[in-house]
Amino acid sequence: MRDFINQGHAPNGDPDPGAVSPAGTRESDIAFDVGLMVAEFLETAGHEVIVSQSDSLETIVSGANFNQSDIFVSIHCNAAANPDARGTETFHYYGSSAGRKLATCIQKQIVSSLPVVDRGVKEAGFYVLKNTDMPSVLVELAFISNEDDEKLLINNKRDFAAAIARGVTDYASTD
Ligand SMILES: [Zn+2]
Repeated sequence: MRDFINQGHAPNGDPDPGAVSPAGTRESDIAFDVGLMVAEFLETAGHEVIVSQSDSLETIVSGANFNQSDIFVSIHCNAAANPDARGTETFHYYGSSAGRKLATCIQKQIVSSLPVVDRGVKEAGFYVLKNTDMPSVLVELAFISNEDDEKLLINNKRDFAAAIARGVTDYASTD
């Protein structure tokens, strides 16, 4: 099984750090760290893993498609103007049943292993979901704009990563 893990936004936040918390925590950095850990866990589980962060979504999508990846996971942090908004949600492409299955496996693992609010599995037409040839999901780990979620994102990266990796292996084992 070949997994393509994409860390959201630009490497080292240049030029796009994604969402930034009032305290200065950057989405691109959290995603980078979590993505690397997901890759380590999946490699340990015997998967072949490509991990990639790029400001160019075309580069990401063509990398996943060219390498004929079996699944695609993009890692992000959410943000909202309302500082009370918090929780985890996982998106798949409209009407994709394989995408829904992968999203459900990952969402279930995250909400059962971390003290996050379960915002559920949702459909969306994001570029990376629309243009990848394989079952693909975009995980919004938690809200960087909420103080409690931000602490989790800083202190529990390994737990998020382990949960995502278990979600992927759950998906693979029921394939
Ligand atoms: Zn993002």
